[in-house]
Formats: sequence, C-alpha cells, structure tokens
Amino acid sequence: MTPYAEVIGDPIAHSKSPLIHRFWLEALGLEGDYRATRVAPGDLAAFFADRAADPAWRGCNITVPHKVEALDHVADPGDVRASIGAINTVFRGEDGALAGTNTDAAGFWAPIAELDLADRPVTVVGAGGAARAILWALARIGVGPVTILNRNPLKAAALLASFGLKGDALPLAAGTPPAALLVNATSLGMTGQPPLDLDLSPLPDDAVVYDIVYAPLETPLLAQARRRGLATVDGLEMLVGQAAVAFAILFGQEPPRDRDDELRALLTA
Ligand code: NAP
Repeated sequence: MTPYAEVIGDPIAHSKSPLIHRFWLEALGLEGDYRATRVAPGDLAAFFADRAADPAWRGCNITVPHKVEALDHVADPGDVRASIGAINTVFRGEDGALAGTNTDAAGFWAPIAELDLADRPVTVVGAGGAARAILWALARIGVGPVTILNRNPLKAAALLASFGLKGDALPLAAGTPPAALLVNATSLGMTGQPPLDLDLSPLPDDAVVYDIVYAPLETPLLAQARRRGLATVDGLEMLVGQAAVAFAILFGQEPPRDRDDELRALLTA
C-alpha cells in the first residue's frame, strides 16, 4: 500500500505540483506518490468520501475551482473560512478526520521574509483568491498603507476592510503610488491573457516587484521591472514555497530546500 497524495482541480493537466512533490519524495528516498486528479465541480463530496476511506491517502492540494467549496466538506481547525476564506491543502487530522488549511500565504511570504516592510507602503494588484492569502499575510506583518488596484475596486475595498488594512482601493487605471513592494495577484500576464500594463516609474529604486503568475516565468511586468533595475520575485518562488509547507503536512518531513536550484531547472525545462 504505497502512501500517496494528489492535487485536484478542473482543469488539472497543467499543474506543476506532481513534479515538485515527486522531486522531493525521490530526493528524500521516501516511499510515496503524488498525482494530479481532475475533479469536476459538483463531484467534491464524492471525492472526499472516497479518499477518506482510503488508508493510503495522505491528503491533497486544491486548485481552481475548488478552493472555496472544499471548505464545506472538511473540518476547519484554523478557522481559515473567517480569514483567507479558501483552502489549498486537505490532510488527515489526528483523529483521522479530514481537515483543511491554506499554505498560499506562507508560500507568498517566504521569498520576501528578509524584506523590512514594517510600516512601508505596498501595492497589490488583484482581489481574487490569491490576493486574499497575500493580504492576510501583509496584515499579519504590519505593513504600511496598502493600495489595491483591481478591475472591480469595490471588491478590493471589501478586502481592505475585511483584513483591517489601511489604504486605498482603486481601479487598475489609477496606477501605483510609490511602494516598497508591488505584487501582481491577477491572472494578467499569464499565457493567453493580456499583460498587466502598469507604469512602474512611481516606484522607488529599492522597490521589489513580485509577480505570482508562473506561466510564463518572466512576465511582461517582471521584464519591465528588470529593465528599470528593480529587484524581482517570480511566481515559481511562491509555488514552491506553498508546496513546501504542504509537503511537510502531507508527508511528515521537511522537503530538501537546499536542492531548489535543481527543482527550478526541472520546472523550467
Ligand atoms: P481569481 O480568484 O480568479 O482572481 C483573478 C484576479 O485577476 C481578480 O482580481 C480579477 O479581477 C483579475 N482579472 C482576471 N482577468 C482580468 C482582466 N482581463 N482584466 C483585469 N483583471 C483581471 O484567481 P486567483 O486564484 O486569485 O489567481 C490569480 C493568479 O495567480 C493566476 O494567474 C494564478 O495562476 C496565480 N496564482 C499563483 C500562485 C503561485 O503559487 N505562484 C498561487 C495562486 C495563484 P476581478 O476581481 O475584477 O474579477
């Protein structure tokens, strides 16, 4: 009985999670497998009932479109519903019952943990599920005013209020004010989507531009930031960061992060 975990979503064929988790399983010499499983909307209850009865199943990661609905099917010991409002990892709790958590916030934060953002202004572009995890993390570390730029600024204003953040919610066309960190949390810049067209000139020279989109790795926004000489963080860093927290939950061991260069080469091959 080989232990296994998986990532579920619809569609799911594009997911890089199996590559990441299998790389770590092999690197650690752990017996186990990690798969990608398409679960259609409406099939979540049956999926969790089936897996709960399978002793080899360690848990799963969850991607679009199930991150919110999955909360209805598992326990929520950390009250993620009231904070981030979506889960991306389901595991077996100590009593064997299925429980959910969210590792996106930790994954987002890990690559910029060394930055001193206390009381410094931050701009977040986007107000979807990923933005919620990012804003939750920013609220926890006490950044300065947060400007959210979003196609729908009312949705952004609701997020500012729900995370107790001071700042502004503005339409995309308003552009970024000076900020120590600018994060793209929209799907703009993804393969097949228009680029995020933003004037970066208001940013100071020590600003960091972070794009959580990871396909392509060098988005037009990051290319523009590099041309301006700004420091950048790409979406693969968050992807690997959230997977690392999930791997420890699912397989009970820390992944070998000293082999990130090899993993990155594999993911970008
Ligand atoms: P989501 O909940 O669907 O939110 C999408 C966001 O993009 C919303 O703010 C939406 O604006 C905006 N948007 C979409 N199309 C737009 C357009 N044509 N013009 C202007 N704004 C547009 O998606 P999500 O789960 O937050 O994911 C967002 C992106 O982050 C995706 O590319 C995803 O792959 C990436 N992501 C990366 C990681 C990682 O680990 N690197 C983790 C999670 C997500 P409205 O609010 O106005 O609809």
